[in-house]
Amino acid sequence: MTPELQERIEQIASRYPSRRSALLPALHLVQRESNGYVDGAQLAAVAELIGVPVSEAFGVQSYYTMFERRPVGKFHLQVDTNIPAMLAGAEEIVAQLERSLDIRVGETTPDGLFTLSTVECLASCGTCPVIQVNDGYYESMTPQRTDALIASLRRGVLPDLPVQANFGSVCNVLLKRRGTPNATSLAVYRQTGGYRALPIALAKKPAEIVAEVKASNIRGRGGAGFPAGVKWSFLAKNTGKPTYLICNADEGEPGTFKDRQIMEYDPHLLIEGMTIAGYAIGANLGFIYIRGEFAWIAAILEKAIAEARQAGMLGRDILGRGFDYDLVVHVGAGAYVCGEETALIESLEGKRGNPRLKPPFPAVVGLYGCPTIVNNVETLASVPFIVEHGAAAFMHIGTANNFGPKIFGISGHVRRPGTYEYPLGTPLATLLDAAGGVDGRLKAVIVGGLSVPILTAAEAEGLIMDYDSCLKSGTMLGSGGIMVMNESTSIPRVALRAIRFYAHESCGQCTPCRQGSHTVATLLDKVVAGRGTLADLDLVVRLCRTIKGTTLCPTGEAFATPIEAMVTKFRDEFAALVR
Ligand code: SF4
Repeated sequence: MTPELQERIEQIASRYPSRRSALLPALHLVQRESNGYVDGAQLAAVAELIGVPVSEAFGVQSYYTMFERRPVGKFHLQVDTNIPAMLAGAEEIVAQLERSLDIRVGETTPDGLFTLSTVECLASCGTCPVIQVNDGYYESMTPQRTDALIASLRRGVLPDLPVQANFGSVCNVLLKRRGTPNATSLAVYRQTGGYRALPIALAKKPAEIVAEVKASNIRGRGGAGFPAGVKWSFLAKNTGKPTYLICNADEGEPGTFKDRQIMEYDPHLLIEGMTIAGYAIGANLGFIYIRGEFAWIAAILEKAIAEARQAGMLGRDILGRGFDYDLVVHVGAGAYVCGEETALIESLEGKRGNPRLKPPFPAVVGLYGCPTIVNNVETLASVPFIVEHGAAAFMHIGTANNFGPKIFGISGHVRRPGTYEYPLGTPLATLLDAAGGVDGRLKAVIVGGLSVPILTAAEAEGLIMDYDSCLKSGTMLGSGGIMVMNESTSIPRVALRAIRFYAHESCGQCTPCRQGSHTVATLLDKVVAGRGTLADLDLVVRLCRTIKGTTLCPTGEAFATPIEAMVTKFRDEFAALVR
C-alpha cells in the first residue's frame, strides 16, 4: 500500500470514535484505487493499518456484495433485476447486454473492458431498468440507451444520459425543492426557507424539542411506524457515555426509493433535521449510514455538509449557541439486512452486518455500546417542519394517529412511476391517479415495499394509505413503496424473484431464515419451471407459517408473510403450473 493511500485511510479513521469503523471505507478506497478489487495482500495491509485480525477483515470483506476479491472489468455493469425492474423489462436489458458484449452474467469480456452482473434492488424503482456502472447509475434504460451506453464505454467515456424522473407533491414539505434548480446548494435551501427551524430549536431546551416531536405523533417512516418522539424519550440518561444519532439511509427494501429523493435533491433538509435531532437528544456526533450503491449520493451529502460547516450550521458552537455537532457520512457495501438498526450499527462499527439480539435496544446499548437513536431519512427530514410550524401544523396533515406528509414511491405498471408526496390517509386510488393511472388492468399491488402482504385488485379497492388502515386491510404501509402489477404479471414469477432476493440477503444467523428461504426458493423454482406438485405448494405455505416469529430480526417474517400471501391469494395461478 502506498504511503499516500495509508495517509488517506488515517484521515478516514480520524473521523470515527473507533478506528475499526474505518474498515468499510478503507476497503472501498483500496478497491477503487486497485482496479476494482482487493486481493489478499491488500486486505492484510488494510487489516494491519486498521488494527483488526486479517481473518476478521476477510469476514467483513466476504460479507458485503460490493467488495470484490477477484479482478473485474474496467466497467462493471450491474443490472438491477428485482421486482420493479423486472416489471419494467430489466430481463430484456440483461439479454441485450449478453448479446452485445458476447458474455454471460458473471463473466468479463476477454479484453477486460466489461464485467456483467445482475444485482438486487438499486432503489431506482421509478426509473428502472437501471444499470450501475462502477459507482454511477444509468436509469430509464431502453435498448437504444443501452446501445448508446455501451458504444460510449467502448470509447472509454462514461456518457451523460439524462433521466426525467416523475414526481409530485401536494404537501410541499419533503419534496418542496424537488425540481428547483441547484436545490442541493445552501444558498437555494436558505432562499426557499431552509435553516429557519435550526435557530428556533437552539433557542429552546432540548427537552422542549423532544416534547414537540412527541406531540406531533410522527411515526417512523422507515417501515415500522413507531412514534419517533417516543423512541427519542427511551434514550438511556446519565450514562456518562456519549449519545449518538444515526440516520438510516440504507433504503434497500425493493420498491422503495423515497429517501434518495431527499438526499439527492434536498440534502440540507436532512442535515438541518439531523442537527435539530442531535441537539434534542444530546448528541454531538451523527452518522448518515447510506447504502453503498448510493456512493454518488453520498458525495452530494458530503458537499452539502462541507457547506453547512463553512456557514456555521455544523461544527463548533453552531450559530453561536454553544452547541457542537458534526456529521459523518458512512457508506455501506451492499447488504439489505443492514437496514435493520442493530445490523446497521454493527456495520458502522466495521463488522459484518449481523443483527443483534434485542433487548438491549440501541437507545440503551447502541453504537460503541452507547445510547443511540436510529431514525429514517424521511423521519429526520420532517423534523424542521415540526419545529418551525409546530406539532399542531404537522397534525393538520394526514389522519388521526397517522399524521404528516409521506413520500410514496410508485413503480411497476403505472404510466408515470415516480415519487409523490401526499398526506398519510390518502386513498391508494388518488396516488395511482397521480402516477398516471394503471397501465392495463390492475391485478395486484404491494403497497409497503416487498415485505408486506400482496393485495388482489379487489382487496386494493378503496384502500386508504396509512399505517392503521393498511393493517385493517390485511397489509402494511411499510415504507410506502407501491408496486403495481397489471394482468400480464405472473405472480409465481414475482414470488420466485422475491424469495431469491431474501435467500441472497439472509445474513445466515438463524436457521429458519437461512435454510427456510433457500428451501422455499427451491420449491418455487420447481413450481415455476413446471416440475412442482401441489404438495410443494402446501409445503411452501407450511414453511412460511412456521418461519414467522422464529428469527432474530424481521427478515424471516419479511419473506414468509408476502410469499404466503402470494401463494394463498393466487393459488390457482400457482396450481396451473404444477404437474
Ligand atoms: Fe440474519 Fe435472517 Fe436471522 Fe435476520 S432473520 S438475523 S437476516 S438469518
